Amino acid sequence: MSQQYPEQIWQNGRIKPWADATVHVMSHALHYGSSVFEGIRSYETSGAGKPDGAAIFRLTDHIKRLFASAKIYDIVIPYTVDELSAACRDVIKANGLRKAYLRPIAFRGLGGFGLSAETPTDVAIAAWQMGPYLGAGVLEAGIDACVSSWQRFAPNTIPAGAKAGGNYLSGQLVAREARRLGFGEGIALASTGLLSEGAGENLFLVFEGALHTPPVSAALLNGITRNTIITLARTVGIDVIERDIPREYLYLCDELFMCGTAAEITPIRSVDGKPVGVGKPGPVTNRLQDLFFGLFNGRTEDRWGWLEPVEG
Ligand code: PMP
Repeated sequence: MSQQYPEQIWQNGRIKPWADATVHVMSHALHYGSSVFEGIRSYETSGAGKPDGAAIFRLTDHIKRLFASAKIYDIVIPYTVDELSAACRDVIKANGLRKAYLRPIAFRGLGGFGLSAETPTDVAIAAWQMGPYLGAGVLEAGIDACVSSWQRFAPNTIPAGAKAGGNYLSGQLVAREARRLGFGEGIALASTGLLSEGAGENLFLVFEGALHTPPVSAALLNGITRNTIITLARTVGIDVIERDIPREYLYLCDELFMCGTAAEITPIRSVDGKPVGVGKPGPVTNRLQDLFFGLFNGRTEDRWGWLEPVEG
């Protein structure tokens, strides 16, 4: 965000100036990671079958996932999906944004200090302008990734299917180690030793003409971009296989990419210093990028109602 803070934040039902959107230091979530959140992008659209202008990509699906994450942790969100969706639109409008990143968060607030304390739930939504998450030019050139020495949490420890604040301690270990070693991003293995996901992105590889991705049982977040890619690929006849993937396939595959709301579709050109395929983004990755970004200018028909206009 480079210290360019957005002016207005939605907090507990109303829009307020950035400086007023604060929480108490004894808020439960600050101590115990008891928050659930989302990352959502809005795009500038034209010719996409909706009125031209800003549209939030899969807004309803993201807000539904926020409620699903909250359910896992018994965090009661005192709003409806429609109310929070409307609040997301309001935040975009209040800040005069078009192409932006939205961050709704619900967390245990001030009200008790014990682990099982029944605290009130605070909810906030911020939005700001954001370019490519993993750096300028990475969507075209790709990144160099490494396999992390940190493993993802086992499925009977912390549920990877919840997008909860505490999970991102694991993500920080993976991402910070990768940056320290000079890599663009880290890839984590599950406790089974099989491939899981990136620090904040899902993984796909192209092998023998098909698209392969680890299953949700591999300690990963069931990404909305992952689902978007699976859907788009199948629409154009690319085979998609969700399966356990051993680490060495990172070195043997023809193409590899990461995906997520922030990362969009970021090609990976090397892993652990070994080139992926010919060492640059391949044709399947490029085709999926075209299909994905085509949603925002009408080159790809939005048959699924994924574009949710801000003025709608
Ligand atoms: N895995 C993790 C750990 C993430 O944080 C994210 C980003 N939310 C993803 C995968 C990708 O999910 P999505 O496509 O829904 O943004």
